[in-house]
This record gives sequence, C-alpha cells and structure tokens, in this order.
Amino acid sequence: MQKGKLLVISGVSAGAGKDTIVRMFIDKHPDWRHPASVTTRQSRPGEVEGVDYYFVDKPTFENKIKQGDFLETDFHADNWYGTLKKPVMDLLSAGHSVILRKDVNGSMAIKGVIPKAILVFLDVESSEVLESRIRARNSETEEQIQSRLALAKKEQELKRHFDYVVVNPENQPEKALADVEKAVEL
Ligand code: 5GP
Repeated sequence: MQKGKLLVISGVSAGAGKDTIVRMFIDKHPDWRHPASVTTRQSRPGEVEGVDYYFVDKPTFENKIKQGDFLETDFHADNWYGTLKKPVMDLLSAGHSVILRKDVNGSMAIKGVIPKAILVFLDVESSEVLESRIRARNSETEEQIQSRLALAKKEQELKRHFDYVVVNPENQPEKALADVEKAVEL
C-alpha cells in the first residue's frame, strides 16, 4: 500500500523554471526522494550513474519495457527515457515521499498507473513572459524558438488534467515553491 506522497512536477518544456523549483524543493526537503530515470543516451561529462540517470543500451532498455519495468517511457532525439516502477513503489510503500520531474505526457501516464500521484503543472504568467524567457537563452534559431513556442501551447492545453496549476512568477520562485508545498500539504 502507498504510504508516502508522490509529487510529479511538470509544465511547459522550456521556460517554466521546473529545474529551479525542483532543485529548491529538494534542497528544502532533503527527506523527499528523487529516483533517477533510465536512458539510452550517452552520459555527459559530470553526470553520475544512478544520480542523473541509469545509463543503459537500447536492447537492455527494450527488454525492461517487455518486462513491464516502467511507469512510463518516451522516445525522443533517437533515445529512450523511462521512469522505473519498482524504486518509486518501494519508496512509497516504505513511507518515503517522492518527487519526480516529468514532461506533460510522462506525468499523465504516471497518474494513470498511480492515481494518488499529485500532479503539478508549472506555468508562466503569460505567453509574453514565456517567449522572452526562451529568447533570453540566446542559444536557438528563430525556427527553433517558434517550434518551442508551438510545443508550449500544446502542453498548456493539457494543464486541465493536472491537480494543481502553479504560476512561477518572474524572479519570485519562492512563491511557486510555496504553492507546490501547499499542493502536497507541507
Ligand atoms: P536530457 O537528455 O537533456 O537529460 O533530457 C531530455 C529530455 O528527456 C528532457 O525533456 C527530460 O525531461 C526528458 N526525460 C528525462 N527523464 C525522463 C523520463 O523518465 N521520462 C520521460 N518521459 N522523459 C524524461
């Protein structure tokens, strides 16, 4: 039986500030666990096996899919990513609370398997703010920026499926953190 809480943070894939909020949450609540995903992509310099990801090859990953090891998987940029079922279930049944950061589809898939999961959609104040945050990265072509904005719009259409929508206001992430904490009754 599930004893701990399961919080899944999602939002538009660029510009919502998910990484910042999740990092702040974990720093403030070190008792919450955040099990690593599995991926078939190469590890990047500085990434630690079992902390950032479990790195496996494609046959290993596909075998794990067949064995039903995942809560959800996604294939993008020619690589698999997936959330392992067992570590999450084991932590919850041992009474630990768990925080996961997932894309919109991954979050909804997790809710399908674990209905008690609390889904938070991290949103921006306005489409203007989103656009300026994406442009401020200064790393993408106009075409890439436009496709990110189009994707963000699609993701925002799915926010009604989330338990809570939390706005991450410009330069005030502590406000969003407080709303996330309220969602899980902290
Ligand atoms: P990166 O390769 O830069 O670490 O991650 C690429 C994308 O994969 C990011 O959008 C990240 O959120 C997503 N991702 C990482 N782990 C998982 C996972 O377990 N499931 C899903 N669906 N996406 C993931």
